[in-house]
Amino acid sequence: MNPAHELPSYLEPKGVGSWGVFLQQIDRATSSLGELAYLVETLKRPKRILIVDVPIKRDDGTVAHFEGYRVQHNVSRGPGKGGVRFHQDVSLSEVMALAGWMSIKNAVIGVPFGGAKGGVRVDPRRLSLRELEHLTRRYTSEIGIVIGPDKDIPAPDVNTNEKIMAWMMDTYSIMHGATSTAVVTGKPLALGGSRGRRDATGRGVFVCGRAAAAKIGLPLEGARVCVQGFGNVGNAAARCFAQAGAKVIAVQTVEGTLHHPAGLDVQKLAEHQAAGRPFAEFAGAALIDDAAFWELESDVLIPAALENQITAANAGRIRTRLLLEGANGPTTPEGDDILATNGIIVVPDVIANAGGVTVSYFEWVQDISSYFWTEDEVNGRLDKIMSDAFGALWEAAEQARVTLRTAAFTLACRRILEARHLRGLYP
Ligand code: NAD
Repeated sequence: MNPAHELPSYLEPKGVGSWGVFLQQIDRATSSLGELAYLVETLKRPKRILIVDVPIKRDDGTVAHFEGYRVQHNVSRGPGKGGVRFHQDVSLSEVMALAGWMSIKNAVIGVPFGGAKGGVRVDPRRLSLRELEHLTRRYTSEIGIVIGPDKDIPAPDVNTNEKIMAWMMDTYSIMHGATSTAVVTGKPLALGGSRGRRDATGRGVFVCGRAAAAKIGLPLEGARVCVQGFGNVGNAAARCFAQAGAKVIAVQTVEGTLHHPAGLDVQKLAEHQAAGRPFAEFAGAALIDDAAFWELESDVLIPAALENQITAANAGRIRTRLLLEGANGPTTPEGDDILATNGIIVVPDVIANAGGVTVSYFEWVQDISSYFWTEDEVNGRLDKIMSDAFGALWEAAEQARVTLRTAAFTLACRRILEARHLRGLYP
């Protein structure tokens, strides 16, 4: 991290983590902000942070306490928007960085939202369904004072899903005495969810990947694809690539790494996982060492699990042509530099995984207007927004001779700071 960065007193320098990565990415764009650079400090401080205690009664009658967060990084362009993560490693630094990346992402694709993120430091696998519901409802009621359809709109992230969004929507609605479908996105269809939302992030990864592959002359038919993470994002992205004729040769999850040089049957793996069967028992591939995943030769590599996966330690061993960041923050700035030196094109998270928030935007619009679209309409509009955004970014990066990430941060910072400038500084 740049020693010149002033950290807020609530963040220990040794705990700066992902927030330090975000600050470095802002730094790389700052010299291109022209007259707006005078406002850049606003992006280095989240607007609002709420830390809550989430107590629940366990099934055995004891009371357990969990740390919960909601961070609103910037709301200059519209209400906060960003997912909620349930994970044992959630920390303030991580949620701050994820909220910052949401500000950038929403500005890159041009949806009228600011950036926010939430999380609870819990391993949900250790909770019963009843405990998970109580945790979700108590967390929602604790952050209820800062969220709302025109304030901040949560959505699913790691280990959260449609069921959890339904509980969040219900809890918020009870608090306000009126059904408020637009308070969260990623809901079940029966509660105002949008068609196409479930696969939207993975589909967006594919749309960007297809556009990037066309730019570098890489045919998707027969392309070798490796995917880390087989959850909401990785699963859908893998299915889209397989449908386009690519071979998904490796999939890694917390349970291990599956490899098949001729391509594994992604649909069957999805069914295997949905049936709750152990990953290692999947018949259509061999289990390999986790560390070997990063050394497999591929055409497309999709990290779609967690942040800080590609670092100075392993970036030099990666042999691929196109790296599509399905996850948020999977590559550190040092890893990024090594990939660039090795000629690997990185399509950064702030555009590659923006399909989820794009369809979340569609869901919010549909809820507010109470008029729902067909799946073809959703997918068509997603495709158009993402393809146009990717095309504009590619051109900007070529013109400025910078990476796609720096081009994305420059474009987004300009859009956010222009809004900040026009709104003026209160009072
Ligand atoms: P998920 O909980 O549905 O799936 C996560 C997957 O990652 C699982 O398959 C899990 O086994 C795997 N995983 C976790 N830790 C791992 C590790 N250490 N090594 C290998 N695999 C590991 O989560 P998701 O919603 O698919 O989110 C994945 C990433 O995509 C996150 O970075 C998230 O912030 C980002 N993202 C998600 C959305 C969305 O709409 N869900 C949108 C944009 C970005």
